[in-house]
Amino acid sequence: MAHWNDYPTRYVGDANPNRPRHVHDLANEKDSCALHAVEWANNAVPFATKQAATTAGYAPCLFCMPYDKGAS
Ligand SMILES: [Zn+2]
Repeated sequence: MAHWNDYPTRYVGDANPNRPRHVHDLANEKDSCALHAVEWANNAVPFATKQAATTAGYAPCLFCMPYDKGAS
């Protein structure tokens, strides 16, 4: 999928304060992740590891990380 930005990391979180915080796996990104919308709103936050995203309060995305604990 096309992105507006190149990310040095595999995981990107959605920092939109109006929605539950989710982190996405770029290696398994789905259309439903709608990451282009996250980027458009300037809410993309890169994370080096899944653990770093979890620690920051992000839940795994249901579309690209469906088998992760707490995915929503
Ligand atoms: Zn996703």
